[in-house]
Amino acid sequence: MSDCLFCKIRDGHIPARVVYRDEVCLAFEDINPQAPTHVLFIPLKHIPTVNDIALEDRELVGHLYTAAARLARERGHADNGYRLVMNTQRDAGQTVFHIHLHMLAGRPLMWPPG
Ligand code: 5GP
Repeated sequence: MSDCLFCKIRDGHIPARVVYRDEVCLAFEDINPQAPTHVLFIPLKHIPTVNDIALEDRELVGHLYTAAARLARERGHADNGYRLVMNTQRDAGQTVFHIHLHMLAGRPLMWPPG
């Protein structure tokens, strides 16, 4: 079995509060939410970091954004706003090495982040 935490969530070996799934991506609630809405969008395909995104993955990455935008609309965040962020490597705070798009919403968000 893969050592990757998010592959284990994808495969149902670790439980998560899944909010969306299709043939390309999975979205679930972050276990340690930093905002009223904090959802992680992951590709089903294991890609460790943004550095590893290949040309053939371009559609997959766009897919994560369109799935996130749909959920933002469904949860009423489209007008007030939301943040989509993909931390890359340790200095940026990446702790799980399977790319994931954080969606944060439901409160005013500071800029720049720390
Ligand atoms: P990163 O720090 O890599 O950008 O984001 C990893 C995110 O995964 C963190 O926000 C963290 O709270 C979340 N996370 C870590 N372990 C689990 C888990 O077992 N389940 C869920 N749902 N989220 C997790």
